[in-house]
Amino acid sequence: MIPFKVDLNNKTAVVTGGAGVLGSVFAKAMAECGAKVAILDLRKDAAGAIAREIVGDGHVAAGFECNVLDLDSLRSARDEVLPLFGRPDILINGAGGNHPGGTTTKDYFDVGDMENVNVRTFFDLEPESVQSVFNLNFVGTLLPTQVFSKTMLNSVKPTILNISSMSAFTPLTRVPAYSSAKAAISNFTQWLAVHFSKQGIRVNAIAPGFFISDQNRALLLNKDGSHTERAEKILKNTPMGRFGIPEELVGTLLWLLDENSSGFVNGAVIPVDGGFSAYSGV
Ligand code: NAD
Repeated sequence: MIPFKVDLNNKTAVVTGGAGVLGSVFAKAMAECGAKVAILDLRKDAAGAIAREIVGDGHVAAGFECNVLDLDSLRSARDEVLPLFGRPDILINGAGGNHPGGTTTKDYFDVGDMENVNVRTFFDLEPESVQSVFNLNFVGTLLPTQVFSKTMLNSVKPTILNISSMSAFTPLTRVPAYSSAKAAISNFTQWLAVHFSKQGIRVNAIAPGFFISDQNRALLLNKDGSHTERAEKILKNTPMGRFGIPEELVGTLLWLLDENSSGFVNGAVIPVDGGFSAYSGV
């Protein structure tokens, strides 16, 4: 159920990571507003399942297998989307995520941990994992933008939406790779907004706080559904004292996509985080 409707009739929207928790909510919301939605995801079956759900509700969508890190894969997805739905007007770069090898075990470095094989210190961060987090989040936003924005140049009031994170404003303790990669997304959003401004393509980002999803469920919830120690800590640092519900991003999504409501908003990174990024704790 969307909070309000904007007119996305005759618009084509492409959403990468569209089979994910947040991407699928975005895809459904845009379809409900009349857009034809191309759901791109590494997981073809999951993308197809979300598309079938949307079509079952009387809207227009299709799923496409696509790896956002592979230009050939992106180009073949584009070549499938265009004949079916026409030139995209909206691109949502929703594919992203973290990798445990790019995180430390503890908040603070302790020399005594250097010999402890059970503790991943700063010195144990795995280059491949750090690289994979940068690739998925940053390169995985840049490449789809290269492939799809080229086809958007003649669209009417096209717009691109990136997904940053509150960890881009202040890095999450233990999470250096993901936080830096998301800071790169926020920075890239501003860069691209400027770069495309004379072409009329608006580029903005949403910076979600903590929303329960597949990638963080095990970190936040115990098997019995109770909060983990990490979850309790997050909630203590979230002034609103709870996790977000993915649907709570939809109002900001639709506002940013709708030219009539946000036509002069460009290069903005909007936090939707229950006050997390505003909270210093003292
Ligand atoms: P998710 O894991 O549910 O969805 C991510 C989707 O991306 C998955 O469907 C996955 O198959 C797909 N994907 C992964 N690698 C891909 C690739 N190489 N090519 C194409 N698709 C690929 O995660 P989510 O919670 O929906 O997160 C979506 C975005 O929001 C991510 O960028 C994430 O970092 C960001 N985010 C999430 C939260 C949160 O609390 N859930 C908070 C802040 C930011």
